[in-house]
Amino acid sequence: SLRYSLEQVPFVREILHSSHSSLLQNIHENLEDPSHLSTSIVRALVDDPPLRASDGNLFRIGYHKELDDLLDIRKNGKDWIAKYQSQLKEETGIKTLKIGFNNVFGYYIETSRAQAQLVPENFIRRQTLANSERFISPVLKEYESKVLHAEERISSLEQSLFSQLRQEVSAHAELVKKIAKALALIDSLSSLAELASMNNYSRPLVDESSILDIQEGRHPVIESQISCENFIANDCLLDNENQQMMLITGPNMGGKSTYIRQVALICIMAQIGSFVPAKSAHIGIIDKIFTRVGASDNLSRGQSTFMVEMTETANILHNTSSKSLVILDEIGRGTSTYDGISIASSVSEYLLNTNNKKAKTLFATHYWELTQLESIYKNIKNYHVAVKEDADRIIFLHKILPGCAN
Ligand code: ATP
Repeated sequence: SLRYSLEQVPFVREILHSSHSSLLQNIHENLEDPSHLSTSIVRALVDDPPLRASDGNLFRIGYHKELDDLLDIRKNGKDWIAKYQSQLKEETGIKTLKIGFNNVFGYYIETSRAQAQLVPENFIRRQTLANSERFISPVLKEYESKVLHAEERISSLEQSLFSQLRQEVSAHAELVKKIAKALALIDSLSSLAELASMNNYSRPLVDESSILDIQEGRHPVIESQISCENFIANDCLLDNENQQMMLITGPNMGGKSTYIRQVALICIMAQIGSFVPAKSAHIGIIDKIFTRVGASDNLSRGQSTFMVEMTETANILHNTSSKSLVILDEIGRGTSTYDGISIASSVSEYLLNTNNKKAKTLFATHYWELTQLESIYKNIKNYHVAVKEDADRIIFLHKILPGCAN
């Protein structure tokens, strides 16, 4: 895998080299040519090595002389025995002579008892059976030890050559890490670029202002699931004076959660340097994004749904600043209705009212009572998700409009 990845690097370098972007030029500088390393792996390993090194057959023929010889012995062992057998038959004239193998004596030469006296003098008798005699010869024993040891030696030699190779490669670990980092960066950038051009994203304006102004924003994930044409785009305007908080009411399935999450995602994408799913976006830099969404307990840590919700909300209130973005999806749900409304209302008022805590906030809620806050605070505005009632049907228009829900 390392070899195949490294082999691609020169092509990537070539592409980067001709780029006019200073960021890509910078990556090019960090992306050293690792050809010497990939070549040394190519020289050593076969093209398709086994998954486990212990399975053997890792190394290319020609890489190591001794290993080549041993592999040759293993491969040609059977041929050699057959050849030796016919050579002996011819020399001794014993037609019944054959070479066998057992675990006690290893390789042996067998003849019928009647013809046993015809064997050459240097044969050593090893076993006498009812009808046959078994011998060994110095040549056969020498060959046997070669064959039996070859298997063992191949395995240990391959292991040690593989460790050596790994050591050689690991001496270049820093280079590999540097390359991996550069490639990862290119991967992220090209993915964002591809997405931007495929899905018609636009380049956001990010500055030090306190504006959050998104025109025709979309949710990058939901729109890819239901296709771009079916997704209803929505604007969002938040600042620190007139519209610091949008309180969004509307029925279940109206699109409240989708809307508030898409705003947060667009801000994150803009600030990591990506284009965004919107017609245009002007984003004053946000220091932190806080979310309180979903209802889940954490019973294994001894926390009920309500406890989780309140701990997270407390964390937001403690740590938010006027430069933060807060998205709240139905807080107060984990308790009874009136307690819930009281908590949701106090949290909103705290964010609207407290110096240095006036974070831009999107608050989706079913507590219609909270819409009264608009008449008390000038920095909160009511919005709702549009729904069309048609005879006895409800059509969700997924459009965020000013005013509270019916
Ligand atoms: P609940 O109050 O039950 O949490 P909700 O108002 O938060 O509901 P969402 O969960 O945001 O509603 O949306 C419900 C579904 O409506 C989404 O899963 C999505 O399929 C669809 N939807 C939401 N917004 C849009 C949109 N702008 N365009 C098209 N479809 C949308």
